[in-house]
Amino acid sequence: MSSSKIVGIDLGTTNSLISIVEGGQPIAIPSAEGDYLFPSVVGFSRSGERLVGSVAKRQAISNPERTIISVKRHMGTDFRFTCDEKSHSPQEISAMILQKVKADAEAYLGFPVEKAVITVPAYFNDSERQATKDAGAIAGLEVVRIINEPTASCLAYGLDKTEKQETVLVWDLGGGTFDVSVLDLGGGVFQVKATAGNNRLGGDDWDQRIMDWLVEEFKKQFQIDLRTDRVAMQRLKEASEQAKIRLSQETSTHIKLPFIAADASGPKHLDVELSRSKFQELTHDLVEKTVEPALTALEDAGMSKSEIDKVLLVGGSTRMPAIQDKVRSLFGIEPSKEIDPDKVVALGAAVQGAVLSGEVKDMVLLDVTSLSLGIETVGGVFTKLIERNTQIPVAKTRVFTTAADGQTVVEVHVLQGERELAAHNKSLGRFELRNIPPAPRGVPQIEVTFDIDVNGIVNVAAKDLATNNKQKIVIQSPTNLTQEEINAMVKDAAIYAEEDAKRRTESQARNKANIELDTAERQLRELGEQMSFEQQKRLRDAIERLRGSLQTYDTEKIKEDTKVLQDAMYAVSTEAYMSVGGEKAREAAEKSGFAPTARAAAGGGGEAGAEGGAEEPSDQDLFGWFQQ
Ligand code: ADP
Ligand code: MG
Repeated sequence: MSSSKIVGIDLGTTNSLISIVEGGQPIAIPSAEGDYLFPSVVGFSRSGERLVGSVAKRQAISNPERTIISVKRHMGTDFRFTCDEKSHSPQEISAMILQKVKADAEAYLGFPVEKAVITVPAYFNDSERQATKDAGAIAGLEVVRIINEPTASCLAYGLDKTEKQETVLVWDLGGGTFDVSVLDLGGGVFQVKATAGNNRLGGDDWDQRIMDWLVEEFKKQFQIDLRTDRVAMQRLKEASEQAKIRLSQETSTHIKLPFIAADASGPKHLDVELSRSKFQELTHDLVEKTVEPALTALEDAGMSKSEIDKVLLVGGSTRMPAIQDKVRSLFGIEPSKEIDPDKVVALGAAVQGAVLSGEVKDMVLLDVTSLSLGIETVGGVFTKLIERNTQIPVAKTRVFTTAADGQTVVEVHVLQGERELAAHNKSLGRFELRNIPPAPRGVPQIEVTFDIDVNGIVNVAAKDLATNNKQKIVIQSPTNLTQEEINAMVKDAAIYAEEDAKRRTESQARNKANIELDTAERQLRELGEQMSFEQQKRLRDAIERLRGSLQTYDTEKIKEDTKVLQDAMYAVSTEAYMSVGGEKAREAAEKSGFAPTARAAAGGGGEAGAEGGAEEPSDQDLFGWFQQ
């Protein structure tokens, strides 16, 4: 029997889960081992057998060369995992996890699982999303939609049904990652306002603290260092995680590992008591590390703590009382934890699946971009087309032109980031649009379109409006921005904002000066005969002056002299119109590229002395200028 059902899969860094809507309710489907969690671990036994899930997790520390954990961190990169001379991409490894999840679910459900909604962190970039989709395809799944994990969590909580407008903060602390998202919802519309987090903080760190402590305790007692014994360390890791989990319920726990080591005097057993308060003392700083990203998310969303109506606890590690206390004290409200924090993302993905298959109706989902997207324009300036935190799907189009006469090729360099200059942002890819018919600079019209689809995948196209020639790319470059990198980029942008703005103004002033010099020389060449001697002299002097100031780094002087030159040119053209008053002069003026066009009008609008920086109604804001 085939099914039109669409399952939801949480392809997690530490654990994966699969869920399906039955009788209107999402349920988690257990693995063949009877657990809801499928550890996201793949291993290869010495005999070449592929191990996926808990069996692979069991050899992760004792056999690290043949085991791959946390492959999700490598999604969208060119990382390879090599074992027995066979090399695997992150997509392939993830596909092995998905295959296991799919097979176990099929055995449980009794029908084939063909279509899935897969979740990704809200900050996942284009290549990471694409890689996730590819992993699904390799595993034989049709990935009908990629959705953000915090959005899925809200769906699981049924928040799509709330009528009044609410702001929800999703606090997701998993095994190796911490993600905070702020969402606005109401009347079935979801909007992710901001995301922040720490890609290197999770339950594993808490386990590690217990392990370190156990090793020290054991050393004190027996003078034996367990760190050199991999098998012992594997047992310690398992025991530490188990102890941590028990301490979410109990105030003290016993850790017993018989025969963990031996020396001349015989076998040694580890046998210690760990209290919750000791555990919390060992991990206090880890809890504190969650505060900063949470505040960043609030700040980015433009919200204060008191404006948060609900906090959803997501991820296995939010079961720790210390984390719950932190959330309570930070927001002053009781966080929601009614839905199993391990399962909530997968359950929400299944709800989305049911919406897409038509089982559940009336819901709109809106997600946002985590960083701004744009292209490089002349002078190395980053010109944004899509601002960060813009709702997706989104398409934005802007017309650009050439920077040099006779330019037949433009390069579209696509970047992501918040800084003013291209060099400081992350390059996502580049392509060229060729065969532009030769024309004076400023004449060709190149339409650039950014299109981000529902899965967050970015398509960039450039079209020459004269010929309809088109080039495009789907961003495939191996950029793997961690949440930390994103945070760092956003922070850098704030720190360098002033300096960048200054350099941008400088760069713009120089470009403008060069363009005006070029125009003035052409005017002299082509209209020189019609000019009076005074006009010619005024123009030549202005040209000389501007050339001189371009030798300096005095931006204000460059701007001032550009204005003087522009005035000289306007005087010429005004006189030409007035004295000749005929079509001939007008034609000549237009052909020379100097005419009261939008660009010249903006430049001559008496803006001299206006504040520089991004607000200036510069050429870039009307038409960007490509670098040659
Ligand atoms: P991910 O989203 O990274 O795949 P999960 O949400 O599945 O991760 O969280 C896994 C982490 O949650 C592990 O570090 C695990 O030890 C921890 N965890 C699970 N249950 C508990 C619990 N009861 N108390 C504390 N930590 C827990
Ligand atoms: Mg998770």
